[in-house]
Amino acid sequence: MKYASGIVVVLLCSVMTVTLNAETLSTTDQEILQQLKSQAQQSSLSYELLESLTTEVGPRLAGTEGDKKAIAWASAKMRALGFDKVWTEEVSLPKWTRGDLSLQVVSPYPHNLFGISLGGSVGTKRSGITAEIVEFKDLAALEAAPAGSLKGKIAFVSFRMERFIDGRGYGVAVGARGKGASVAAEKGAIAFILRSVGTDNNRTPHTGGMNYAEGIKKIPAAAISNPDADLLVNMLKREQPVKLKFKSTARRYDKKMVKTANVIGEITGSEAPDEIIAIGAHLDSWDVGTGAMDDGLGVAIVMASAAMIGEQAVKPKRTIRVILYAAEEVGFYGTKQYMLDHADEVEKHIIGAEWDFGIGKIYELRPGVGEQSLGAIADLAGYMESLGVGLSDKNDAKAQSDMSLLSNAGMPAINFAPDGTNYFDLHHTENDTLDKIDAEDMKQNTAVYTLFAWFAAQSGVDFRQ
Ligand SMILES: [Zn+2]
Repeated sequence: MKYASGIVVVLLCSVMTVTLNAETLSTTDQEILQQLKSQAQQSSLSYELLESLTTEVGPRLAGTEGDKKAIAWASAKMRALGFDKVWTEEVSLPKWTRGDLSLQVVSPYPHNLFGISLGGSVGTKRSGITAEIVEFKDLAALEAAPAGSLKGKIAFVSFRMERFIDGRGYGVAVGARGKGASVAAEKGAIAFILRSVGTDNNRTPHTGGMNYAEGIKKIPAAAISNPDADLLVNMLKREQPVKLKFKSTARRYDKKMVKTANVIGEITGSEAPDEIIAIGAHLDSWDVGTGAMDDGLGVAIVMASAAMIGEQAVKPKRTIRVILYAAEEVGFYGTKQYMLDHADEVEKHIIGAEWDFGIGKIYELRPGVGEQSLGAIADLAGYMESLGVGLSDKNDAKAQSDMSLLSNAGMPAINFAPDGTNYFDLHHTENDTLDKIDAEDMKQNTAVYTLFAWFAAQSGVDFRQ
């Protein structure tokens, strides 16, 4: 109520002509921005949303009952939070069920291992598979194995992921999870196991998606916990055959499609409703844990950010669109469908940011915008300085995760980098639960996304330039 809508009229002439060091926002919009900043830093709305999602919905593997509940939850919450428009867009994907898994070393040192099927893996025959393990230090070593050399064997990649604040160890390690099974099958292997793509030392294995290459036999694939991988490596050092029993009832239904949906909500722009500021996260999770970090955190942050802007007496000039993507974990089905459904309006996505990584405070803003927009980005970064967010000297960012497809299609983006030092201790495990989330950090995260969305909506800047 404090800001009469009439005041806003002043700035319309300033759009599209932002130069370096100029004030990008009008005085009124700066005042609203400061108000949003203190409101977001005090509000527990995003944490309350996450608590609600993890408690009332829980795990939400794409296409399951949990996923359906999540779609209904998100739609209802957005309406209750006062979004102007809320709708869903159908997405389909092939059905997969995890079933049960058991892995045992049968000789020379019998031991039960803690393992988990990789998402999309086939199972074994009912009686299981018993075979000798062959270790490879990494995916490249497995790729270099001679054709036929793994006939009747179980391939094991023992590569350990490294811990970094920006999570860059993940990209190095995850290739083996994605394609290791097919590479191993090509050499004659009958099953594939890998050390979990994770940085912890708990006997909690990490699941994650995998793919089968076309035309190659589909063999069962599982991740084992880090301590179990260490143990196998030590057994294998003794230079005698290590035999493993691998039993899994995982099942792919390649021809049976299941349905899910992208959930989209908007705070409609008052002056340029067809210009979109996109903030997003993925609504689905793995079926382990409650998907608190991955990606309930992101869902809650972007919903709360848009809701706080929507509550202001002065409406944003551009539309703020919250995109909750479907089926990210199992193969980016939601974002691929979004690109098809919105092919003719990609250029209307003025700028975007997704949250799908990290659990700590955001420490850096990294833009991926046109050169002429860097002055406006510096302005935005100035407002975030007191939140502990620094401006990167690089201008090459893509939006995270699902939204990288919009980036690839030309949408300018910001990558807000949160502290991901401990993220991969928990990622894709039964430990991805609410207690890992710091409610105070979430206030900072939400303040950053709120400021970004408001700034971009009011700036009039064409971030492509
Ligand atoms: Zn994720």
